[in-house]
Amino acid sequence: MIIIENAKILYGEDMDAIKANIVIEDDKIIEITKDKIKNGKKIDASGCIAAPAFINSHVHIGDSIARDVGDGKTIAEIVKPPNGLKHRILEESNPDEIISSMRQSMGDMLASGTTTFVDFREGGLEGINLLEESSKDIPIRKIILGRDNSFFDPDVENGEIKSITKKLLRSCDGIGLSGFGEIRDEVVALISKICQKHGKISAIHTAEYEELQNDSIALTGKSEVQRAVEADLTNLIHVTAPVGDDLKLISDRGSSVVSCPRSNGTLSVGIPPLNDMLKHKINVLLGTDNIMFNSPNMLREMEYALKVTRGYYREYFSPTEIFKMATINAANAFNLNTGCIKEGNTADIIIVKEFSNNPILSLINRTNPDDIISLITEGNIIY
Ligand SMILES: [Zn+2]
Repeated sequence: MIIIENAKILYGEDMDAIKANIVIEDDKIIEITKDKIKNGKKIDASGCIAAPAFINSHVHIGDSIARDVGDGKTIAEIVKPPNGLKHRILEESNPDEIISSMRQSMGDMLASGTTTFVDFREGGLEGINLLEESSKDIPIRKIILGRDNSFFDPDVENGEIKSITKKLLRSCDGIGLSGFGEIRDEVVALISKICQKHGKISAIHTAEYEELQNDSIALTGKSEVQRAVEADLTNLIHVTAPVGDDLKLISDRGSSVVSCPRSNGTLSVGIPPLNDMLKHKINVLLGTDNIMFNSPNMLREMEYALKVTRGYYREYFSPTEIFKMATINAANAFNLNTGCIKEGNTADIIIVKEFSNNPILSLINRTNPDDIISLITEGNIIY
């Protein structure tokens, strides 16, 4: 049994700050209480905040090998498959180097309070195995969205897509597609249907920037969002440049949007309209996207997201909403029993020194990874 004593807890789905003790047994939070508990391993959290650990809802951990390569080039030159700079570097690198760079990124995530990440995994089954292999002894939860190069083949047959997708899904949690520019709509819809049938996640980069939306409308008469909603995908990555009724369509379908504000900023493609998404009651999550140009640090992502949103709309935006995007919203989207501190949930908790009178702002604005004094995942104390 572990007892976190005297913490200011961000409690429940609303993240209300309460002063209490957290009792953990095995991998679960079994009690939140003001009473003193005698037995168990105690963590003194006086002067600290106990918060749910972070869920990074979108990364490409494979490109950890190419950090900050290509700065200043266009987004297509850097990341567009199959010949973007990132893909060329990945092809030229040996697996040992790729593995050690991915391990370093997973270490960075744990060090900055993230216990779960959702990876867009390239390279088919081999790519999935590479991530499994490199994360074997690292106590981090992975949600792997795989893909196969055959998806991009303009002549690929439906039967082939079906069998490859089913085979991939045996080893991963869903499919993550690069974008509508590289794949036929019919193939996207088929993959989405197979994922649904197997209770898996289907995701695609959508409406990352205006030009993609314009190209999509010119080519098909529909925005990328319309096409994604018609294909019935569960998770849309970005939606930084919605047009017309796009947000309403997403809201009606109930898809989650994974916003990656720092990635959009780095690539000069815009600022995600988070306020409008929330007004449409869309479930918004946060991801740090390509490790090639962003550290997988959710503290930084939250701070940027909050401040750039306030600047963009020139009005108040609640930090609690940003904090939920990094925790409970993601847990709900991926069916995880984490993302908030309450009885019965899996114990994924960070304990952080408190630096201000507002615990959520303290975490978002004031906290560096070094201020996290302890990280617990599935009831195990990691540090
Ligand atoms: Zn991405």
